[in-house]
Amino acid sequence: METRAILPTITPPLDVRGEIEVVNPATGGVISTVASSAPSEVAAKVERARAAFPAWRATPAAERAAALLRFAAALRACGGELAELLTAESGKTIIESEWDIEWAADAFEFYAGLAVSHGGRMPPAQTSTGTELVVKEPVGIVAAITPWNYPVLLWAWKAAPALAAGNCVVAKPPPETPLTMMRLNDMLVLPDGVHDVVNGGAETGRCLVEHPGVDLVAFTGTAAAGKEVIRACAEQVKRMVLELSGNDPMIVWDDTDLDVAVECACFAAFINAGQVCTSTERIYVRDTIAEEFTRRLAARASALRIGDPSDRSTMIGPLATAAQVDRLERYVASAQERGAVVRAGGAPAGVGGGFFFRPTVLSDVSHEVLRELGEIFGPVVPVIPVSTFDEAIELANDSVFGLGANVVTSSLELALQAARDLRCGSVWINSPLIDNTAGPFGGFRQSGSGRELGVEGYEAYLETKHVTIEPALSYQPWWFSAR
Ligand code: NAD
Repeated sequence: METRAILPTITPPLDVRGEIEVVNPATGGVISTVASSAPSEVAAKVERARAAFPAWRATPAAERAAALLRFAAALRACGGELAELLTAESGKTIIESEWDIEWAADAFEFYAGLAVSHGGRMPPAQTSTGTELVVKEPVGIVAAITPWNYPVLLWAWKAAPALAAGNCVVAKPPPETPLTMMRLNDMLVLPDGVHDVVNGGAETGRCLVEHPGVDLVAFTGTAAAGKEVIRACAEQVKRMVLELSGNDPMIVWDDTDLDVAVECACFAAFINAGQVCTSTERIYVRDTIAEEFTRRLAARASALRIGDPSDRSTMIGPLATAAQVDRLERYVASAQERGAVVRAGGAPAGVGGGFFFRPTVLSDVSHEVLRELGEIFGPVVPVIPVSTFDEAIELANDSVFGLGANVVTSSLELALQAARDLRCGSVWINSPLIDNTAGPFGGFRQSGSGRELGVEGYEAYLETKHVTIEPALSYQPWWFSAR
């Protein structure tokens, strides 16, 4: 796992406050150190973005789109090298890192298209001589703050629409995984100040969010941090796009091929070692098949290949941090204290000093206990039997979160019922966790507000202005002069 050759050149920040050690989760070894940005550096970068904004906003949309397309092409051209770097810092399997880079390129291509096609409208005017325009304008300076599980993709979902719409961006990657983002910042060929990066943890994030020069905060992370962001933005009535925590359900019905359903559940629960905001974290299964489903799921989970994430045959890489391993051990212990039975995994996997955790299946755990324990965010999935589809829907909806939900059924009637009655931002039927750049992504309730991706994810970075024009000044019958 040689990574030195592909590490980016780290330019010293304007003002050094501390150093962040970036650790390879597969080995536990430090692969790089990054200087944390001091408040003065954050302020300087926001001010540089403000200075760049008037010219970038005035740049013809076709020129902005061309710059984004060139970047997307560069991403695709060195996707392999970028994927290696992403795997080295995040522990993501190499195949999943390659997907992340490709999807990031997709986002830049998609929003380059919208930059040249999506505009305002002309509503019918109030007078026979008037013209009215609904104009779409960039919001201004966007703070793009991302978590460690998808540091590239979730940045692309923010930066691509924001830049395409004519905004300037100051990005703050997560301190655990900043390296690929820094490399991407070097690759983005844009006028000075249009896109920049600050480094650091929550403190740097707060500094960026609170800076009066930032007009919109696009934040993905925990609901707890999201609430802090909301409070800070409220003070200045700042615009926000928030993608927060999840606790996604999957419903498995007794009318499908059980082996395929098991494979589907494995993917939904264990992709990216379960560290996806839309990972399946509770499976409600028809009681008539629950025991057999759990047995087969446990067998399949135990057979998934854990190991070096840079090996293309690896299915489950390490967790992103040592703290994640501790957190999951505590989660499993708490569930066991409340009666849960570990049917597969349940403990760290000793692989080469890295932060590995075995894919885990739990049974005999009630919905109430799961509610109490909250978001899992790792390769642990509990299975709960239910007797009716209505009960499954009710339990699936019974969460403070409402990000996504999966349904496995061959009944059109049940599929349509689920699509109608599940209260969450994404419903996947027989197609777990597929994202489409052209379709909106986001959550109900405490899973966030606003949407990323799709046209909705472009509109989020636009202000709407209503312009009314009378070609000539003349007396109007409703003015005081007419009384
Ligand atoms: P986190 O909330 O701790 O941190 C996310 C980012 O916000 C980091 O860059 C962090 O430095 C920064 N930050 C933390 N506190 C801040 C504050 N008060 N002000 C400004 N910035 C702040 O989350 P994490 O542990 O890095 O990521 C895991 C979480 O992200 C999970 O809860 C997961 O569900 C969520 N997530 C959600 C989505 C989604 O689309 N809904 C996608 C991926 C991850």
